[in-house]
Amino acid sequence: MAKELDQIVDVAIVGAGIVGLGHALAAVDRGLSVLVIDRTSRQNGSTIRNFGHACITVQAGAAQVHADRSRELWLRLRDEAGLWMRDTGGYVVARAEDELAALREFAARRPGSARILDASSTAAATGADPAVIVGGAHLLDDLQVNPREAAAQITAYLESRGVQFQFSTAVRTIRSGRLHTTRGRVGADQIIVAVNYDVDQLFPELGAAYEVERCGLDMMRVRIPELRAPLSGPVLTGWSMLRYSGFATSPSLAAVRSRLFASAPALAARDVNQMYTQFADGTVVVGDTHYRDDTVTPFQEEAAFDALLDETAGFFGVARAGIEVVERWQGVYASAPAEFLVDEPLDGVRVVSVTTGIGMTTGLGLADRVMSEIYEPVGA
Ligand SMILES: Cc1cc2nc3c(=O)[nH]c(=O)nc-3n(C[C@H](O)[C@H](O)[C@H](O)COP(=O)(O)OP(=O)(O)OC[C@H]3O[C@@H](n4cnc5c(N)ncnc54)[C@H](O)[C@@H]3O)c2cc1C
Repeated sequence: MAKELDQIVDVAIVGAGIVGLGHALAAVDRGLSVLVIDRTSRQNGSTIRNFGHACITVQAGAAQVHADRSRELWLRLRDEAGLWMRDTGGYVVARAEDELAALREFAARRPGSARILDASSTAAATGADPAVIVGGAHLLDDLQVNPREAAAQITAYLESRGVQFQFSTAVRTIRSGRLHTTRGRVGADQIIVAVNYDVDQLFPELGAAYEVERCGLDMMRVRIPELRAPLSGPVLTGWSMLRYSGFATSPSLAAVRSRLFASAPALAARDVNQMYTQFADGTVVVGDTHYRDDTVTPFQEEAAFDALLDETAGFFGVARAGIEVVERWQGVYASAPAEFLVDEPLDGVRVVSVTTGIGMTTGLGLADRVMSEIYEPVGA
């Protein structure tokens, strides 16, 4: 039987996903005693269900600040926690002149962050069918991790540095300085609540104030025997340009949007972000669709997977029948009008959530910022 908790720590963190782990890293770096509590027996949330794409290069505003800091922390964790990583950047494949124009505009705004590629270099780096490509961009700062392994490896690393983890333990209520769990009570000077979309379970008024919803995503892992070339990094498409804030001010983006919405209304209706990452074993992660609600339907439509497979066959120029689906799964992340939720509903209790599906990109940096605001406040 697991031991009852009844302890006092400097920092208690609810949630052992990437956001909670980022806070634990920042806390242990400051010499603080840290306890991370998670209701599941190991990480099972968004942090293990994603593409593993730290999409550093094409963020803007606060997301860019957090992404740049996250990049430093991911590289550090690669070295200290032994994470598998591709650090050679990501790619955007342009299949229309307006997409290439938007990429050129982005590269002009961010010299040194992105390099424009011709069609054949883009095809060689991404495995995409040369027949559909007009050009592309190499996003120089992007990273790729293996989301299936990273959280467990970071957990083991943090444990080796003295961070305590209590899994299979749900936090029921939180007050300033203490929290009640299904295994007892914990006292803590600072409490970090990093529960992703479940903000509304512990702080319903906060969930309502920030309009937090759940966003469900259909995902697949496939084997593509006819793939022309391995993916040199995460691969984005024109659909991704509509999503990432770094492209928002590109004058050509409006043309990209109207063409994609007119030519592929069914994909637009599913709010598709057509993108790919390749694991070390050669399998390719394929995604994704988006559907938002307070409660996400568990019933994934086969038509959504069909649409993703059709697009994948066209993108890589392979026979659809030759694509072998290895796995399908549903991911869920917190979604809200703002990109981040950081609030202090009670003294010494911070609720921190990435509310736009970029937590692998920004979560570590955001956590570092939250901890420095607590422990090294400006003007103190
Ligand atoms: C399919 C998919 C693809 C994505 N692709 C990308 C990508 O390529 N790049 C990118 O940057 N981002 C991506 N994201 C987003 C990213 O995965 C998330 O933003 C990020 O993982 C959120 O981390 P988290 O720690 O907040 O949440 P989680 O990993 O979900 O962790 C929250 C934890 O809180 C625990 N918890 C909740 N309530 C309680 C409680 N009461 N008591 C104890 N524990 C509790 C849960 O068990 C869970 O382990 C994707 C997300 C999905 C779903």
